[in-house]
Amino acid sequence: MERVAWNKIERNAPVRKRFLKPTHSTPEFRLPMALYNQSPSTIALVSAITTEGSRASALDLIVDCNRCARLRDHCAMVAEKKRRAYLGFEYWGRPVPSFGDPQARVLFVGLAPGAHGSNRTGRPFTGDGSGDFLYPLLHKAGFASQSVATHRDDGMVLYDARITAVVRCAPPGNKPLPDEIANCAPYLDEEIAALDQLRVIVCLGKIAFDGVVAHLLRTGQIERRGQLVFGHDVEYRIPRGQTSERRWLLASYHPSLQNTNTGKLTPAMMLRVFRRARQRAGLPAS
Ligand code: SF4
Repeated sequence: MERVAWNKIERNAPVRKRFLKPTHSTPEFRLPMALYNQSPSTIALVSAITTEGSRASALDLIVDCNRCARLRDHCAMVAEKKRRAYLGFEYWGRPVPSFGDPQARVLFVGLAPGAHGSNRTGRPFTGDGSGDFLYPLLHKAGFASQSVATHRDDGMVLYDARITAVVRCAPPGNKPLPDEIANCAPYLDEEIAALDQLRVIVCLGKIAFDGVVAHLLRTGQIERRGQLVFGHDVEYRIPRGQTSERRWLLASYHPSLQNTNTGKLTPAMMLRVFRRARQRAGLPAS
């Protein structure tokens, strides 16, 4: 494990501003907190009911986002064509909202929805091989109510945890372009800003790690990238000013089939990261 004390590295660096003003977002972007742990279908319903006049609701700005034409076209194409095994399934086919506890102390950040996973079910890491690997470990670590995640109304509840991604629409070949990551960045900024209890960010894969480091730079929480290097089971302390509580940045390899089928990432390796996240968040051991 590699460990860097950021309080030492950043000791003499002035903290510019805790949060720079997001360029694309508005206060209306934030979801009402009561909706955060609901299924997307419930949120869409409540959202439709509560939208007033021409003022767009928070979720309208997420699930109806069209900033990335290439990704929207790809998601729509996949949702229409479908995989043979899911021909009877109505694909979500839209940007995938975050999922979990609005008071989460731990935020898990992934790359992007899988074409036939989240893009099909509408919930992060649900319905594909990555989720089949991830959720049993979240359950074992005490973050998830059940180990099986099949669809967005399967009863799954997250405890002290929330899951999001640096890109909310499924990219071709699981490879978003830099512009697409930049387009989606304001959503990540708002997500993190809304989590008042947040103590630990766990990045699942290098692209997620780079996205979170870019967030820390954008929001003035760090001055430079410095020694923030991605690796499995690394952890870094994030400075948040002189008086506020510090946060931790942890990283794991992404639970893609490419990593889990080859043994690059084993359940024991990922569980160790999750248990460390509990410890850094001040949660009881699982
Ligand atoms: S990836 Fe993000 S910014 Fe791009 S269309 Fe989807 S939700 Fe919008």
